Amino acid sequence: MASLTDVAKWIQASRKIIGFTGAGISTHSGIPDFRSPGGVWSKNTTILFQEFVDNYEDRVEYWRQKAAIWPAVRDAEPNNAHQFFVDLDRAGKLLGIITQNIDGLHERSGVDGQKIVRLHGWMQEAVCLSCGTAVTMDAACERLKDEPAPVCEQCAGLLKPATISFGQSLREGDLSRAATLSTKCDLCLAVGSSLVVQPAAGFPEMASQNNARLVIINNTATPLDRMADAVIREDIGTAVEQLKKAMRR
Ligand code: NAD
Repeated sequence: MASLTDVAKWIQASRKIIGFTGAGISTHSGIPDFRSPGGVWSKNTTILFQEFVDNYEDRVEYWRQKAAIWPAVRDAEPNNAHQFFVDLDRAGKLLGIITQNIDGLHERSGVDGQKIVRLHGWMQEAVCLSCGTAVTMDAACERLKDEPAPVCEQCAGLLKPATISFGQSLREGDLSRAATLSTKCDLCLAVGSSLVVQPAAGFPEMASQNNARLVIINNTATPLDRMADAVIREDIGTAVEQLKKAMRR
């Protein structure tokens, strides 16, 4: 298994890097990951997409959960790991970022927005499921006081935060862009993901199968560790600083 110094050399040599990121990259920004015990997310009952569509009570509960999380997501700041990808982008090394995150922190960090594939959508907007009209999450949350499951002001369709729910299909365009990135890259940095959520975790696997080097930076084991060229089992903030230091040598 290669070392962190090897990874630094691979990054220096590559101009076709992709990031594959999960909730762990944003924990230092104050957003809990999915599996942290006692976190906001684990306390919530899961509302499936079809339940949201079919039942008013489920829509109310779904909106209650999202509104509870939104202020923390809206006010979070990108951290040094998000910045690391900005640096790779400015150095002409980054093909793109495939993210499972819905927090918008890659966008806020200043990476070229065209390069980001948001597999699971994001929280910054709510979208009408019938006509596609989008409103800001702030505007939608403002309406919750009078309307606990708001509807579209254009067509009265169901308004839903622009995240992909369990049971909801991922967008074809995102899947195809993610597949293109995964087949074109020569180095995939999988950062802060348990790599258990499908089909998302299929993309670092696809990169590896297409002969890209796969580097996993995560503080717990993942199912893809066995196929990775390097596993950095470390806090992400620390690993990024160590990588930057090794790249300066
Ligand atoms: P996950 O919670 O399954 O995995 C996160 C991984 O990051 C875990 O293995 C954890 O041990 C690791 N981790 C957390 N903090 C770390 C740190 N500082 N250093 C090193 N490792 C760290 O997340 P996932 O794989 O992204 O899947 C969860 C799903 O939940 C995704 O679909 C995502 O859309 C959603 N989600 C998103 C956010 C967000 O946008 N920030 C937050 C929670 C959940």
